[in-house]
Parts: sequence; C-alpha cells; structure tokens
Amino acid sequence: MQVFSTVANYQAYRDTLFPSTSIGFVPTMGALHPGHLSLIEKAREMSDKVVVSIFVNPLQFNENSDFVKYPKPLDRDIHMLCQYDTDVLFLPTNDEMYPPGKDLSIKVDLSAYTEVLEGKFRPGHFDGVITVVHRLLKIIQPDFLFMGLKDFQQQTIIRHLIESCSISTQLQTVETVREEDGLAMSSRNVRIDTSLRPEANKLYETLMLARELRKKFLPGEVKQRCLEKLAASPFEVEYFEIVSANNLQPVTDWKPSGETVACVAAWLNDVRLIDNMML
Ligand code: AMP
Repeated sequence: MQVFSTVANYQAYRDTLFPSTSIGFVPTMGALHPGHLSLIEKAREMSDKVVVSIFVNPLQFNENSDFVKYPKPLDRDIHMLCQYDTDVLFLPTNDEMYPPGKDLSIKVDLSAYTEVLEGKFRPGHFDGVITVVHRLLKIIQPDFLFMGLKDFQQQTIIRHLIESCSISTQLQTVETVREEDGLAMSSRNVRIDTSLRPEANKLYETLMLARELRKKFLPGEVKQRCLEKLAASPFEVEYFEIVSANNLQPVTDWKPSGETVACVAAWLNDVRLIDNMML
C-alpha cells in the first residue's frame, strides 16, 4: 500500500496510471471497523485501484471536545488497510485539505437536505461534510465513491451534491454492517459504557418494530409507538422520523417499499448514536 499525505504526491501517482484504470474511493475518518471494510471490499470488486482516505474533518464536528475525543488509532488502521488489499491511503494534513486562503466554497444550495434530521441538531455539520467530500473528490478524481447507508442522510446529500455539481463520479452505497445484536457498527461504539452496552441495540430493535408496524399503521402512529418504546429504554431521543428516502421530508402515508426510511438519533449517556432502516 502506498501512503500519500500531500495532494501533489497523490496526483503524481495518479498521472502514472493508464486513463482506463478505474479508481474506487472510500473516504473515512479512521478508527476502522468491519463497516468500513465492507466499503473497501465493494470498492475492490468494482475498481482497479482502491483509494482510502483517513481524515478526521474538524469542520464537521459541532463540539471541539468531540473532535478531540474522536478515536485516532492510526497504526492499527494502517495494518488493517494493508490486510484489505488497499492500493493507496490518502492521509492529508489539515493544511493540505484546507490550504489557507484557498476558496473552497461550493455554490450549490442543498439546504433542503442539510437542515432536516441531523441538520436540526448539528447545525453546520453537513456544510463540513460537503466541503470535505467535494475537496476529496477534486483531489482523488475517482470513478466510484463508496459510502455507507449507515449515514443515510449523508449519502443522500452527497448524491445531490454530485448531481448538482455534475461531478463525474458514481456514488455506490453499501448496507449497514451490524454487531450480532443489531447495533450498527460505528467508531463511536468504543465509547459506550460497558454497563449500558446490552441496551445499545434498542435503536435497532425499535427500527425493526417500525418495519413490523408499517404493515398495520400509518407513519404517524408508527413514529408514536417507536418513541414510546425508546422512552422505556436508557436512550435519550433527539429525533425519530419517518421520511422519504429521496427528499428526507416526513411522510404521512406509505410509499412503495424501499422509498421510506426511518431515521433515529439518540444519546446513550454521553454517546450519540444514529441509525436508520428502510421501511
Ligand atoms: P466515518 O469514518 O464514520 O466517516 O465513515 C466512513 C464511511 O463508512 C461512511 O460512508 C459511513 O457511512 C461508512 N460506515 C460507517 N459505519 C458503517 C457501518 N456500520 N456499515 C457500513 N458502512 C459504514
């Protein structure tokens, strides 16, 4: 695996490739787990060269303390990537990503997608995500971009970003990888208090309940019953919404299967978890 920490070195590498060589790109913030590895596997299947980036993007954190606490086990990550047949690790510094004085503004309005769900509770978060993904796509120039459905809103926003900016990269999404009890894998899971860990799958259980209830009730009633289930758990809910998978707006009636998604964010003590499920 080759490691590049500057844009110039990555671009020099890219210039050595045949124009027909396809590049699959997996952006991450590190602290890799099997969820990330499933993206790399799909990238491996679909592309000639697999590029993974690790960059803990300060722009997308609402609290500096969350940024500081974010796990950064770089040696372990590099070891995992070598085992997973990654061709390139792009490991930029903050100055490489955001050179002082460089205009990185993006002239598309995606606020219809960025200000709902997560956006209501994490103002500015998706502006940071859009900035970093847009910059990474410019640098890496991939044919395929691999993102997890775990971050449902994020992949929806990036899909609209790619369309609005006519970027010639195809977005490929990958199903959420879960622990045995259903908890969605996340770099934040290591921070869950061990005494609360047995309760952490309640988000998944609630989403499964929503899927069951869909057969009998309208979305409003399903949401109510799911909120009641979560209220009886140690989770402190920020939102539980049933929305259109395309525009992320709440639905009052069911759409065909696969077009409606339940999204949830909740705190388990001091750890904020998100999850979602197609209904
Ligand atoms: P992150 O390092 O958290 O920024 O995530 C990098 C990529 O991995 C994003 O596209 C996430 O959606 C994806 N991802 C994170 N957790 C999972 C998971 N449990 N299953 C599948 N993809 C995931």
